[in-house]
Amino acid sequence: MIKKHNFNAGPSILPDVVIRNAAEAILDFNGSGLSLLSISHRTKDFDAVMAEADALFRELLHVPDNYKIFYVGGGASTMFYEVAANFLGRKAGYVNTGVWSKKAIKEAKRYGEVEVLATSEDRDFTYIPKGFAIPEDLDYLHITSNNTIYGTEYHEDIDSPVPLIADMSSDILSRPVDVSKYAMIYGGAQKNLAPAGAVFAIIREDMLDRIVRDLPTMASFRTHVENNSMFNTPPVFPIYVLKETLKWLKSIGGVEEIHRRNVEKAQLLYDEIDRNPLFRGTVVKEDRSLMNICFVMAEGYEELAPEFMAYATERGMVGIKGHRLVGGFRASCYNALPKESVEALVACMQEFAKSHVK
Ligand SMILES: *Cc1c(COP(=O)(O)O)cnc(C)c1O
Repeated sequence: MIKKHNFNAGPSILPDVVIRNAAEAILDFNGSGLSLLSISHRTKDFDAVMAEADALFRELLHVPDNYKIFYVGGGASTMFYEVAANFLGRKAGYVNTGVWSKKAIKEAKRYGEVEVLATSEDRDFTYIPKGFAIPEDLDYLHITSNNTIYGTEYHEDIDSPVPLIADMSSDILSRPVDVSKYAMIYGGAQKNLAPAGAVFAIIREDMLDRIVRDLPTMASFRTHVENNSMFNTPPVFPIYVLKETLKWLKSIGGVEEIHRRNVEKAQLLYDEIDRNPLFRGTVVKEDRSLMNICFVMAEGYEELAPEFMAYATERGMVGIKGHRLVGGFRASCYNALPKESVEALVACMQEFAKSHVK
């Protein structure tokens, strides 16, 4: 359908079949003669969409029964303050692994004390801090599981003696996760699941009893859990697309299969970055993200960056410019990105090297 290699960081690539089904539902939702965009969210047909999304999310991520899933409008950035508003009474711990962590920390400070338990800022966020102590008197510990901008990712679920809350905006459903180790997982839906406009949250039920203050109705997680995300009008279209993405993920073999594919894609590209004398990776190897693959021109070749960008763009690569804070290149390889796109980028790097390696 679309003949570009879409490495956009977010909003980002969705499976062709999902976009096609969404387009059809916009024209005629379930043969109702009405567009998905102009139905009431309080209908049997939309209830079914919500129920199917819930069942699929649970099945794919092996979400235990004592967890609830809800959706709200906004973005992960909305959650940065809502998490703290709900749960930060006295002190919370945060791990600072980059821009998104910093933004979460900034919002949390409005509600209580924030202890930054570990940070990778000393080396420009090029690694994931490990082995730090977690005090037991924290209201919760907050991590960012994948650093979309710097290209680092936790590859293991950490053990925490206090409720663990993770921003998984950019790696949700890209790899198996032991949900039972988390009190809450949330994220913007626009990286791996849907168009922009919705936030997903998976929350352990007992966390609702830990809400520390009286909040505006819409800011309280209890509202959304108790009303099945239907207290007000939910983001109907993003939720529909999310449901279609989950269906697609199940059809190809689920999270275990997508993880295998993601490892394969990432390996292809990282191998080329390591092998090709023109390029080098920017983060420590053991913490390399499977989703956002960052690289720069190697020493002595820095001035070739604009030329390579133009070369790759001409060959159909889209969205490989690095984040403005990091520079260089970033190829986001989300679930829906086909292996062929990574192969095309690798071929591009090899071709370019032929005429440019000194
Ligand atoms: C994109 C992103 C965000 C910001 O999401 P919004 O929905 O734009 O607020 C937050 N955290 C991470 C890890 C992200 O990748």
